[in-house]
Amino acid sequence: MDFSLDDEQLMYRRAVRDFCEKELKPYAAEVDRSGELRWAAIRKMPGLGLTGLQVPEAYGGAGLDSVSAAIALEEIGRVCGSTGLSIAAHNGLCCFPIMQWGTEAQKQRYLPLLTGGEVLGGLALTEPGAGSDLGGIRTTARRDGDSWVINGHKAWITNPRYAPVIVTLVRTDPGAGKHGYSMILVDTDAEGLTIHPPEKKMGVRGSPTQMLTFSNVRVPGENLLGEEGRGFHQTMQTLDGGRIGIGALTVGLAQGALEAAIRYAKERQAFGQSISQFQAIQWMIADGAMMIEAARLMVYRAAWRKDQGLSFTKEAAMGKLLASETAEKVAFNAIQIHGSYGYSQEFPVERIYRDQRLMSIGEGTSEIQRLVIARRVLREYDS
Ligand SMILES: Cc1cc2nc3c(=O)[nH]c(=O)nc-3n(C[C@H](O)[C@H](O)[C@H](O)COP(=O)(O)OP(=O)(O)OC[C@H]3O[C@@H](n4cnc5c(N)ncnc54)[C@H](O)[C@@H]3O)c2cc1C
Repeated sequence: MDFSLDDEQLMYRRAVRDFCEKELKPYAAEVDRSGELRWAAIRKMPGLGLTGLQVPEAYGGAGLDSVSAAIALEEIGRVCGSTGLSIAAHNGLCCFPIMQWGTEAQKQRYLPLLTGGEVLGGLALTEPGAGSDLGGIRTTARRDGDSWVINGHKAWITNPRYAPVIVTLVRTDPGAGKHGYSMILVDTDAEGLTIHPPEKKMGVRGSPTQMLTFSNVRVPGENLLGEEGRGFHQTMQTLDGGRIGIGALTVGLAQGALEAAIRYAKERQAFGQSISQFQAIQWMIADGAMMIEAARLMVYRAAWRKDQGLSFTKEAAMGKLLASETAEKVAFNAIQIHGSYGYSQEFPVERIYRDQRLMSIGEGTSEIQRLVIARRVLREYDS
C-alpha cells in the first residue's frame, strides 16, 4: 500500500499552489463581494490545464489522472470557493460528459473552446420542482424533423452566463421512466433560451447560479449527447466523478480555514500568551487537522479507484460526505478561534464558512450521499 503522490503530482501541486496564491487568493474577497470571477486569472488557467483537467491534450486539455485533478481542485478551494465551484462544475459536469459520450464532431466543436480559458461550461439537471429526485424533472425535448424542440425550466445551474454550451438533461420519452431521459447539448445563444439573473446566495457568490427557461428551443438532432434514453444513467456516472471534484474542493476549503485559524491563533494574545498555547484551541486545531487528513485520503482513494477502473460510486459519495462535514466543523471552529474577528468580513474564515455550506447540498445532498452509500453497503452483505 503506497500513500505517496508521485513526483509529477507533487510538482503539479506546487505549480497550482503558486498560481492560486498569486492569482486567486488576493482577489477572493473581491470575487465574493462583486459576484464576478476573476477572468484575468481564468484566462491563465489553460497553462496549468485547469480548464481541461482530464480532457485529452488533443482537444486542448491536460489529460491528467483523477488524483492530479483532485489536487488541482483542492488547491483552488483552499483559496477561493467561488472559483473552485465554477472550475469543478466546468470540468466535472460539462467537459466530462462531452469527453465521455460526445461524437468526434461534438468533441472537436466544443472541447477546444471549453478548454481555452475564455468560457466555462455547465450542466443543467435541477429544476424548480426537482433536485434530488431527478424522476421529477419536467423539461422535455421532442423530435421535429431534424431537430429537437426543448421546453421547460432548469434551476440553480452553475456557470450559464459564462457558458457557450450547457449539457441539459431532458425527457425524450416521458412514458419510459428512467429510460426516457437524454442529454442534449444546448448552445446558449439558441433562440428561446432565457438565462435569468444570478441567484443572490449565501456563499460562493462569485460563481454564478442561474435559472434557465426553454421556450421552444430548437437544436439540431446531432446535439444529442450519447444515446437517446441513456440520459439518466449518464447523469449518475457524471455525478459520481463530479463528487470527487466537489470532495476535493471541500477539502481545500477546510484546509484554507484551518491554516487561517492557525495563523491567527499564533498571533493573538490573551491572558499574557498566544492563544495557540491554550489546550482548548489546540484541540480544535488537532481535530481539524485529523478530519481533513481523513477526508483527503478518502477523496484521493475514490480518485485512485477511478483511475484503476474500479467502482468508485460509494467511495466518491463517502469522500464528499466526509469532506463536507469536515469543512462545516473546521470552518465553524476557525471562526471560534478568531473570536469576533472571525465574524467579520475582514477575515477569510467568514467567507469560507458561507462557501463551504453549499457542499452538503450541491451535487447531491448529504442525505442522498448516505442513501447512495447505504444502498451499496447493504448490497455488499447480500448473500
Ligand atoms: C450554488 C448552487 C449551485 C448548483 N449548481 C448546479 C448545477 O450546476 N447543475 C444542477 O443541475 N444543479 C445545481 N445545483 C442544484 C443542486 O444540485 C440541488 O439543489 C440539490 O441536488 C438538491 O436538490 P433540491 O434543492 O431540489 O432539494 P430537494 O431534493 O428538494 O431536497 C430537500 C431536502 O430533502 C432531502 N431529501 C430529498 N430526497 C430525499 C431522500 N430520498 N431521502 C432523504 N432525504 C431526502 C434533501 O436531502 C434535502 O435535505 C446547485 C445548487 C446550488 C445551491
